Amino acid sequence: MKILVCIKQVPETTNIKINPLDNTLMREGISAIINPDDKAGIELALRIKDKREDADVTVITMGPSEGIKALREAIAMGADDGILITDEVFSGGDTYATSLAISEFIKTLEYDLIITGRRAIDGETGQTGPEIAENLGIPQITHCTEFEIEGNKLIAKRQFDDRYHIIEAKMPCLISIIGEKINPRYMTVRGIFDSAKSNSSCEKKDKKKDRIRVLNYDYIKEKIEASKLGLKGSPTFVKEMVQGISGKNGDKLTGLTEEEAAEAIFQKIIERGFI
Ligand SMILES: Cc1cc2nc3c(=O)[nH]c(=O)nc-3n(C[C@H](O)[C@H](O)[C@H](O)COP(=O)(O)OP(=O)(O)OC[C@H]3O[C@@H](n4cnc5c(N)ncnc54)[C@H](O)[C@@H]3O)c2cc1C
Repeated sequence: MKILVCIKQVPETTNIKINPLDNTLMREGISAIINPDDKAGIELALRIKDKREDADVTVITMGPSEGIKALREAIAMGADDGILITDEVFSGGDTYATSLAISEFIKTLEYDLIITGRRAIDGETGQTGPEIAENLGIPQITHCTEFEIEGNKLIAKRQFDDRYHIIEAKMPCLISIIGEKINPRYMTVRGIFDSAKSNSSCEKKDKKKDRIRVLNYDYIKEKIEASKLGLKGSPTFVKEMVQGISGKNGDKLTGLTEEEAAEAIFQKIIERGFI
C-alpha cells in the first residue's frame, strides 16, 4: 500500500513580518517547521505502516531547498522516502498553481492514499488538498481526525464543530487531516542517523541510500507549460496584507476578593458583548 503525505514548511512563529513591496512573507531569520496538520498526517500514515508490512510512506514537499530538512525529519520519524519539488518556475504560486504542480508530480507516482493537512498555518486557505484531489480526479474526504482501511475502502471520521460524520471512500483517494488531537511521534535515534546518511539526488538508484529525490520543472515539462505554474500561472494574488495587532497587555485586576474578581471578569465579558 503506497501512501503519499504532502507536507509544507511553514514559519515557526505566527509573529511574522510581511514585505510591504510584494506582500510576501519575510522569512529571514525565522526557522521553519513542518506544518502541524501535516506532521499529524505523517503520524497517521506511520500508524498504518506500524500495522501493515506492505505500507510504504513517501513525503512530498514543494518549496525552496530548505525543504530537505522537513523531509529528513519525516524520514527520521519513520517515513520511507521523500520528494522535494523545487524550481523557480513554481515560486509565487497561489493554491491553484501550487496544486497543479504537485498534482503533475503525483501523476508520475504510484499511490493508494494521499494525505494532506487541513490547512497550512501561513497561507491558511485549506484549498491545496482538495484541489490536488480534483486535479487527479479522485475522491476526497476533508477535515478527518482518524481513519481506518478495509480492503480498498477508507473509512474516515470527518469532524464538524458539533458533530462528526463517518464517511467511506474507495481508494485511491485523498484525505485532509485536522491534527489538533494527534500527537506525532518523535524522531528515533536510528531514524536521525538514517535520514542524515540518505543522499538527495534526482534519481533513486539505491532504495536504502537515495531516500530523498529532488525534482525540478524538467521532470514534468512535457506534461505542463511553465506559464501555467508559479506566479505566472496564478489567477489570484494577494492585493493587500494588513497585520493584526497582537500582544495587547490586557487589564490587571488586583486587590479583589474571589467574589469581586469573578464579578469584575463577568462585567468585562458583558461589556465586550460576548454574552
Ligand atoms: C499569508 C499568505 C496568504 C496567502 N493567501 C492566499 C490566498 O488567499 N489564495 C491563494 O490562492 N494563495 C494564497 N497564498 C499562497 C499559498 O501560500 C500557496 O499557494 C501555498 O503553497 C498553498 O496554500 P496554503 O498555504 O493556503 O496551503 P493550504 O491549502 O492551507 O494547505 C493545505 C495542505 O496542502 C498541502 N500543501 C500546501 N502547500 C504545499 C506545498 N508547498 N508542498 C506540499 N504540500 C503542500 C499541505 O498538506 C497543507 O497542509 C498565500 C500565502 C501566504 C503566505
